[in-house]
Amino acid sequence: MDIKTGFVGSVGNTPLIRINSFSDETGCEILGKAEFLNPGGSVKDRAALYIIEDAEKKGLLKPGGTVVEGTAGNTGIGLAHICNAKGYKCLIIIPETQSQEKIDLLRTLGAEVRTVPAVPYKDPNNYVKLSGRIAAEMENAIWANQFENLANRIAHYETTGPEIWAQTDGKVDVWVTSTGTGGTYAGVSMFLKEKNPDIKCILADPMGSGLYSYVKTGEVHSEGSSITEGIGNSRVTANMEGAPADDAIRVDDKEAVRVVYQLLEKDGLFMGGSVGINIGAAIALAKQMGAGQTIVTILCDGGSRYQSKLFNREWLAAKGLLPNP
Ligand code: PMP
Repeated sequence: MDIKTGFVGSVGNTPLIRINSFSDETGCEILGKAEFLNPGGSVKDRAALYIIEDAEKKGLLKPGGTVVEGTAGNTGIGLAHICNAKGYKCLIIIPETQSQEKIDLLRTLGAEVRTVPAVPYKDPNNYVKLSGRIAAEMENAIWANQFENLANRIAHYETTGPEIWAQTDGKVDVWVTSTGTGGTYAGVSMFLKEKNPDIKCILADPMGSGLYSYVKTGEVHSEGSSITEGIGNSRVTANMEGAPADDAIRVDDKEAVRVVYQLLEKDGLFMGGSVGINIGAAIALAKQMGAGQTIVTILCDGGSRYQSKLFNREWLAAKGLLPNP
């Protein structure tokens, strides 16, 4: 028998998928870790579970307690599912610029959702800072604090990294992914480098994020903007701090959109925007490094969370991003 125990037992152990169209085009094996197949639909289920179970172990989260978080959506969705499964309440602070689909789903899951204006991190009313203050003022509540809470990257060091290693028999040449909190990138990079220091760990960044320049020059500096959600950062979080990075690569929205539409039309994979950045980076690296490389990245979430934006041709046209005019 092979039976998973509830939602919690179903997180992780996702398949590693060969992306046929782009692998055949580039002559490299481009492999995507199918995190959209987690029970809450994204890579963030892993961090949400580790954060909650770490707080339980430390005695910080008690029966009937509330989990509070500031999130672009996917961490909140993972937390809301786990709170339901474990009997906690969930309060989510989310910037109003995030897709309506994620906000609606959070409410359907029973989370209390407060949408707030999207203001930069330096503003005291930034959604992350606000969520910390709200949690501190509540009785029997914890702040998940995914950006600084190292339980996030430990989840990937202990699960995602070892799964990728086992699924490839250790035959990975390049690991590349974009980062929001940095948990996925850092946890997997740290694990893979320990196993084999020759594996190249490359950070993929959307326009408008400061991490590309951080890896290249040590300074956080951003230019441009991106329609992708959940990735990019204007600061180096505790989860990113000290993560090995051999190089960084920047992918623009035009390429990310081209990639997600090809994944949909040629590979049958309906993916969110950050996957466009990740696979776009893998393609660029395949071209730089030449055929024969095995390149692993993350398929973070599915496209249905972005139906009203990325997969709405009118919305894309208004942004000047229509792939096949
Ligand atoms: N892609 C999507 C769609 C996300 O929501 C996130 C997390 N915000 C990421 C990628 C990045 O994951 P991490 O926080 O582990 O860097």
